[in-house]
Amino acid sequence: MFNKILVANRGEIALRVIRAAREMGIASVAVHSTADSDAMHVRMADESVCIGPPSSQDSYLSVPAIIAACEITGAEAIHPGYGFLSENAGFVQIIEDHGLTFIGPTAEHIRMMGDKITAKDTMKALGVPCVPGSDGGVATLEEAQRLGAEMGYPVIIKATAGGGGKGMKVAESAADMERAYRTARAEGKSNFGNDEVYIEKYLTTPRHIEIQVFGDGKGRAVHLGERDCSLQRRHQKVFEEAPGPSITPEERARIGKICADACANINYIGAGTIEFLYENGEFYFIEMNTRLQVEHPVTEAIFGVDLVREQIRVAAGLPMTFEQDDLTINGHSIEVRINAEKLPNFSPCPGKITQYHAPGGLGVRMDSALYDGYSIPPYYDSLIGKLIVHGRDRPEALARLNRALGELIVDGVDTTVPLFHALLQEKDIHTGGYNIHWLEHWLETNLGDA
Ligand code: ADP
Repeated sequence: MFNKILVANRGEIALRVIRAAREMGIASVAVHSTADSDAMHVRMADESVCIGPPSSQDSYLSVPAIIAACEITGAEAIHPGYGFLSENAGFVQIIEDHGLTFIGPTAEHIRMMGDKITAKDTMKALGVPCVPGSDGGVATLEEAQRLGAEMGYPVIIKATAGGGGKGMKVAESAADMERAYRTARAEGKSNFGNDEVYIEKYLTTPRHIEIQVFGDGKGRAVHLGERDCSLQRRHQKVFEEAPGPSITPEERARIGKICADACANINYIGAGTIEFLYENGEFYFIEMNTRLQVEHPVTEAIFGVDLVREQIRVAAGLPMTFEQDDLTINGHSIEVRINAEKLPNFSPCPGKITQYHAPGGLGVRMDSALYDGYSIPPYYDSLIGKLIVHGRDRPEALARLNRALGELIVDGVDTTVPLFHALLQEKDIHTGGYNIHWLEHWLETNLGDA
């Protein structure tokens, strides 16, 4: 096992990794920008190294600075968290070239899944059901128009390098195709340096269901059921739960096995998420994320496992602590993302926290790097905390969420907490009757969010 690991991230996810390391008796190194000198992850780690100025480009994304921090501190392995360098195959390669270990999948798997066209081809070949669409990339507008007519509108044009909801455009009709095609290409180019796009049938009322997978890199892989992340704004998740309210044990076992087998087949190592759209009882693969997800705690809650501990173990060459048959679901868990954002437009709202009080009690977990007097810097993501609740069933989890939200105090900045108070008044949230468009409609009707 490693003696010391470096966490190449900030905020709540850096704390999450430091906590797992500490429980395993592993020392932790935090890295930080000059804007984060007073951040909680710096205070909580055993050691810290300042790696650059506020801009992520020059700090959290600076590979030479992070490698140098490893060398200075003697850290043997790097946990990337999510975002930043977590899905950067070049980074993994450099880590390995320096004799260090990346706590995550191989560069080859990151590359394979980072390109959505290659990912889809791979999954199709492994027997994973995919959204009907183009066979690979679509190089010209004429081809896009021909495919649109063939498949029937609406269709969605997606940048192969896209992510975080960027580089995706829906074409409602043939007349709409030129705009959608050109914008998707332009967004792919400007955000990801790659303008290759592909086309999929646009599913009109699906749910977003993702399967958590975990592999040991030696041909053994398991699934840890699904998460339903259908409540989204601009393709970004805001409320996640496990198990999915619409998924039966038989469906879970079937799609879970397909995913676990696919991962075993490619010798996948570590945590991964295979994302699907789910409509009329069918699953359609959209992409695979080769990292720990923001919403991983809901899976941890219902299976009683520590996914970060398992990631560190398999990276060190040890086996996972569970097999498929050990993994049984206990109760229901919900996570809400608390962002420093001002409603109704969700504009970022950095600033000083004048008072912070985290909720507690049975079945409540608050993953946050906030503290009284902390100043949220304006340079990074607006996620400031995740409130995760666990109950014996869905109604109990919802009641607990309501109770815990009532205890939470974050003063000094605007947050998305009022959104969750309002959502908990909605009948559809209690029945679980929503698809990926529900929240956008609700925001439009109730907040005038455009
Ligand atoms: P990203 O990598 O940017 O997160 P994804 O491919 O994971 O992109 O898609 C994100 C979201 O976009 C999905 O959860 C869903 O809401 C919507 N989406 C993607 N593909 C389709 C599709 N074929 N039909 C309908 N909605 C889609």
